[in-house]
Amino acid sequence: MAWAHVGDDVYGDDPTVKDLEAETAALLGKDDAVYMPTGTMTNQVGIRAHTEAGDAVLFDQNAHVYLLEGGAPAAYSGILPRLLPGVRGIFTSEDVVAAVGQPHPFFPSTVSAPVKLLCLENTHNGGGGTIWPIDQLKAVTAVGRDLGLNLHLDGARLWHASAATGIDLLEYAGPFDTVSVCFSKALGAPVGSCLAGSAELVARARRFKQQVGGGFRQAGIVAAGALHALRNHRDRLPEVHANAKRFAEAVSQFDGIDLNPEGVETNIVRLRLTGLRSAAFVDQAYDFGLHVLPSGVDGVRAVFYLDISAEDTERAIAVVAKVLAEV
Ligand SMILES: *Cc1c(COP(=O)(O)O)cnc(C)c1O
Repeated sequence: MAWAHVGDDVYGDDPTVKDLEAETAALLGKDDAVYMPTGTMTNQVGIRAHTEAGDAVLFDQNAHVYLLEGGAPAAYSGILPRLLPGVRGIFTSEDVVAAVGQPHPFFPSTVSAPVKLLCLENTHNGGGGTIWPIDQLKAVTAVGRDLGLNLHLDGARLWHASAATGIDLLEYAGPFDTVSVCFSKALGAPVGSCLAGSAELVARARRFKQQVGGGFRQAGIVAAGALHALRNHRDRLPEVHANAKRFAEAVSQFDGIDLNPEGVETNIVRLRLTGLRSAAFVDQAYDFGLHVLPSGVDGVRAVFYLDISAEDTERAIAVVAKVLAEV
């Protein structure tokens, strides 16, 4: 990063940003990609590029783009979210068909907001790092396509799905018009995301990126970290996943924790506390040096990444035991 060649991202002449965009687009099988500071920005600029105000967009009920991006779909794109009843983030073709509905002479299409876009998230954060089964992903996106919808993938952790299953990124990304990927999620890069897609959609997205202040000048400094992560750290994700699994298996044995370790597929562990509130648990764990997030009244989310070693994982397990014993 210190030695990165830089230019000016606003003028499209930062060589490190351009390398990162080209390599990301190639890995995902798309014409082009555009680098932005955050995954929230790549998702929301992506949604904006596909829609106009008053359109409806289909999201899983626990989608990051819907729940955790500051209300941006409403505030920025002015779209109407239509929520799908996913289970751990995974919904069905029937859910999509039901949400789009059937036109009828007595129910003209002018009445409801036109559904323009279908969003999937892989892996699914709210679901606990769940991976979309590839056959179901293909079926759901094919139905969306038949219904005339555009398709966006929030692939913040798409690398993790591919590392866990061995299925190529090209196969996961193939059905989508746009794919958002993060370099900061377990891969060890400090910040940044890319939105990949057709030349036309990415050109349109570049305009919206500028509109929200995403033209970040000598961005090659951070893009160099992202490029290093992309080239060197994807292969190490299985280590990260093994630590998450080890943690889940150990803490699932403790009284006071409800967790099925078999559901832990990648680097996210979501557990329920049976006798404690999540805020109390998380505060005490923090004081003992373990940083985990509260999720609702009794849920806790633990996320593993490249800098957490197997020894750190054992320490985390010990901290959980100590918190359960003391609080
Ligand atoms: C983290 C995350 C994002 C947003 O990325 P930021 O860089 O934090 O804005 C989007 N989608 C998912 C699934 C995420 O986990």
